[in-house]
Amino acid sequence: RAKNDGRGIYRFFEAEMDARMQIRRNLEIDLRKAFQKDEFELHYQPLVDLETDEITGFEALLRWSHPERGNVSPAEFIPVAEEIGLIVPLGEWVVRRACVDAAGWPTHTKVAVNLSPAQFRNDELVNTVFNALATSRIAPQRLELEITEHVLLQHNETTLAKLHALRDMGVRIAMDDFGTGYSSLSYLRSFPFDKIKIDRSFIKDLSNQEEADVIVKAVAGLSQDLGITATAEGVETENQREHVKAAGYSEMQGFLISPARPIDEINAEYFPQPTAGKKRRLA
Ligand code: C2E
Ligand code: MG
Ligand code: MG
Ligand code: MG
Repeated sequence: RAKNDGRGIYRFFEAEMDARMQIRRNLEIDLRKAFQKDEFELHYQPLVDLETDEITGFEALLRWSHPERGNVSPAEFIPVAEEIGLIVPLGEWVVRRACVDAAGWPTHTKVAVNLSPAQFRNDELVNTVFNALATSRIAPQRLELEITEHVLLQHNETTLAKLHALRDMGVRIAMDDFGTGYSSLSYLRSFPFDKIKIDRSFIKDLSNQEEADVIVKAVAGLSQDLGITATAEGVETENQREHVKAAGYSEMQGFLISPARPIDEINAEYFPQPTAGKKRRLA
C-alpha cells in the first residue's frame, strides 16, 4: 500500500515536471519567434532630478506582448533569454533602439539601458555600443549602462576591461539594484561607477522597517563620499520622495512620476512638437 502511494506521488511529480519543462520549452520557442518577428518593444520610465523636478532621462525597459498570454514580465522572460543566449542579439537591438529613440529628445536628456552578464561574455559588446552611438549620433555621455553585480560576479578581467573601454568612450556606468546581492560594497571598489541605484525593496520598506531607513541613508552618504550620483528606484509615494530627497538622493524613478510607457506617449507628453497644421494663420 505504502509502495503504491510512493509510486503515485512519484508519477505525480513526474507529470508536473514534464508540464513545467513543456511550458519552459514553449517559452523558449516563443521568445525566439518573437525576436524574429520583431515583437519586442521598449518602454521608457522617466528619471527625475529631486532638486529641480526636471527630467534627467529615461530608462529603457523591455516589453513583450505574447500572442496568447499577453504581457509577459521581463523578470520572467529575461532570465530565459539570458540562458538561451537570445539576450545577446536582443540586447543589441535594445541598445540600438534606445539610442535612436534618445536622438529625438533634447540633447541633455539621457537614456539608460540594462545590460545582462551574457552580453559581457560576448566579444561584440563594446563594438555594438560604439556603433549604436555612431549611428544615432547621440553624445556618449547621454547613454547610461546599468549593470547589476551579477555582471561583476564573474570577477573576470575581460569584464572589467570592457567596462573601462565603455567608460573611455564617454558612456556612463550605473550599478543597478544596489544592496540586493551578497557583496555590493566590494563591487564598488572594483569599478568607478558613475551612479548607484538603490534597489526598490529598500524604498518600499522605508516606512515600516528601521533597517531600510538606515540603509537608504547610508547608501546616500556613501554615494556622496564617492562623488557619484545616488538614484532611488521604485518611489511610489510623496512620502517616499521626501524621504529619499532628505536622505541625500539626487535622482528618483518610480510610479509616483510614471511607469514605463511607449515612446510615442513619452514624446507626446514630454517633448510635444508644434505641428504645422495646428498653427493658426493670422490674416
Ligand atoms: P530594473 O532595471 O531594476 O528596472 C526597474 C524595474 O522596476 C522595472 O521593472 C520597472 O517597471 C519597475 N519599477 C519602476 N518604478 C517602480 C515603482 O514605483 N514600483 C514598482 N513596484 N516597480 C517599479 P520591469 O520593467 O518589470 O523590469 C524588471 C527587470 O528586468 C529590470 O529591473 C531589469 O533588470 C530587467 N530588464 C528590463 N529590460 C531589460 C533589458 O532591456 N535588458 C536587460 N538585460 N534587462 C532588462
Ligand atoms: Mg535598471
Ligand atoms: Mg533596478
Ligand atoms: Mg531590478
